[in-house]
Amino acid sequence: MTGSLVVAGLGPGADNLVTPEVSAALAAATDIVGYGPYVARVATRDGLILHATDNRQELNRAAHALEMAASGRRVVVVSSGDPGVFAMASAVFEAMEAKPEHLGLDVRILPGITAMLAAAARLGAPLGHDFAAINLSDNLKPFASVERRIRLGVEADFALAFYNPRSATRPHQFARVLEILREVAGPARLISFAHAVSTPEERLETLPLAEARPEMADMRTMVIVGNSATRRVGRFVYTPRSAP
Ligand code: SAH
Repeated sequence: MTGSLVVAGLGPGADNLVTPEVSAALAAATDIVGYGPYVARVATRDGLILHATDNRQELNRAAHALEMAASGRRVVVVSSGDPGVFAMASAVFEAMEAKPEHLGLDVRILPGITAMLAAAARLGAPLGHDFAAINLSDNLKPFASVERRIRLGVEADFALAFYNPRSATRPHQFARVLEILREVAGPARLISFAHAVSTPEERLETLPLAEARPEMADMRTMVIVGNSATRRVGRFVYTPRSAP
């Protein structure tokens, strides 16, 4: 058997937002590797081996997946959303850099619908003009970098999409993020919270920054801050296609 490694995005949660290409890769797999809750989204069947790992084990997980592929298994590494957005695809390439003997393997990255786009579609079109995506987690970068990127993003009048806004291990940082946003974007700027998009727990809320509270976000929330022209139309929020 010739081994292969596919890094696949499972989308934001709903089954009908998994691409046909990803479904086909899952159906052909011998082994599924990933963070427990994501592996749990893959339908089990006879002969399919599930390797659920802990969070923050990305590099070990990637190295293990490469070893299995090299030994002839058809391995699919799963991420939520898109695997190239704050997820496993980069970890796989880091592991390949460390083990150049794997460079010849059959490796493919299959895109998925990232949370930012699923959230934007539910809200309307808040990312209709230039925007930037920022991971608010400081696991892999200092918080000072997060703060600098937020300030520069607002100054350049990008709409901003925030991943990983808030977790139990850093409850104060999102409050600080809201403070910085109010300072640089002003209290009237629209902010949207999109929780568990495409799942039964989905919840959407849009309000001016002045009224935003840190508890409105958790680890299953995408936060989208509009640019200076972002506005409401009926129950939707959108950003015009043109800008000054
Ligand atoms: N690779 C993923 C992102 C991983 S980071 C992707 O492309 O979507 C995890 C963060 O994504 C969460 O903290 C949250 O901010 C966001 N997220 C993932 N799924 C989500 C969903 N269904 N609804 C809202 N936010 C989601």
